[in-house]
Amino acid sequence: MSEIDPPRRSRLIVLAGPTAVGKGTVAAEVRRHHPEVWISVSVTTRKPRPGEENGVHYWFVSDEEFDALAERGDLLESAVVHGVNRYGTPRGPVDLAPASGHPAMLEIDLQGARQVRETMPEALFVFLKPPSREELERRLVGRGTETASERARRLETARVELAAESEFDVTVVNHEVHAAAEELVALMMVDAPDLS
Ligand code: 5GP
Repeated sequence: MSEIDPPRRSRLIVLAGPTAVGKGTVAAEVRRHHPEVWISVSVTTRKPRPGEENGVHYWFVSDEEFDALAERGDLLESAVVHGVNRYGTPRGPVDLAPASGHPAMLEIDLQGARQVRETMPEALFVFLKPPSREELERRLVGRGTETASERARRLETARVELAAESEFDVTVVNHEVHAAAEELVALMMVDAPDLS
């Protein structure tokens, strides 16, 4: 047996999951501890939140700029999230990522993940799951300040989104942010195919 480790190649991971499962927090944890991982910066029409920087957290664009990107075919996928703002993944950097040798990750919503599955089926699709349905419902419903109909709508959203798990290659349970981030990074490295 050879003592030399087999060559490794990095992989594109598409991280998706239900609303409020903590995808953004897990992605931020990967960014903090694994600078070797390239994480796609999405474009969005939503306004920046305090502390968010253009080009770091998102590229913040106008509706017109978003339209222009979409019309030119510069977005790998795009979706309206929560019925309000538009989000999309710039195609160019994702195409260049494999050549860089760095593992790459997209953190997007379920609609976006389904679109990427059509064009890049070779990516690894990871479903981030809450520890329990009750925990997700607790996070979704928040502090109980919403109306009964809003609450019912959010719970229905959770039910539908949790059912998407079977569409994914791998499930990571978000028991604890750091552990989930490490599990994700471990999935990014795969052994190169045996070419002998
Ligand atoms: P937030 O506005 O809280 O940062 O993100 C809201 C939602 O948009 C999250 O579920 C996040 O995964 C999703 N999202 C962020 N970037 C993209 C993207 O480029 N494409 C799609 N389809 N969803 C995205």
